[in-house]
Amino acid sequence: MQAIRDFVKTFLLLELLQGLALTGRKLFARKVTVQYPEERTPMSPRFRGLHALRRYPNGEERCIACKLCEAVCPAMAITIESEQRDDGTRRTTRYDIDLTKCIFCGFCEESCPVDSIVETHILEYHGERRGDLLYTKEMLLAIGDHYEKDIAAARAADAPYR
Ligand code: SF4
Ligand code: SF4
Repeated sequence: MQAIRDFVKTFLLLELLQGLALTGRKLFARKVTVQYPEERTPMSPRFRGLHALRRYPNGEERCIACKLCEAVCPAMAITIESEQRDDGTRRTTRYDIDLTKCIFCGFCEESCPVDSIVETHILEYHGERRGDLLYTKEMLLAIGDHYEKDIAAARAADAPYR
């Protein structure tokens, strides 16, 4: 009986017609495909992309070299060295993030008491060699300087939920 049913189905091309009917229904439905990169989906203020180090408006680095981010990082991707300045404050002399190790968990950002290390909305970056994804303090500060307006806006949008 099953064999006859299969034969009739094949003979009448029922499965093909079902497939075409599905295509026809979707033809007039609302499109959900986004034409990236011209079109983009909305992004949460908490999106965890490329890292940045921030400064205060007077240009001073926020980071006080407390090393909480280094300690909390589960991937051990952060390396910090520090020294005391003549004025008694402490600042980093080295702040590296190895993005080949980073799992973008956001713990570093959460642990920072002065909002220094943050994760930005930047997701379009790449490295062609392993060393390209080792971000130094200078690189992270440069990202922070360049995107400070966006970073501050994202922090402000997220502030009521923290
Ligand atoms: S996002 Fe997570 S894994 Fe990456 S550097 Fe920060 S704490 Fe480490
Ligand atoms: S980035 Fe923040 S948590 Fe990390 S060492 Fe600097 S002040 Fe401390």
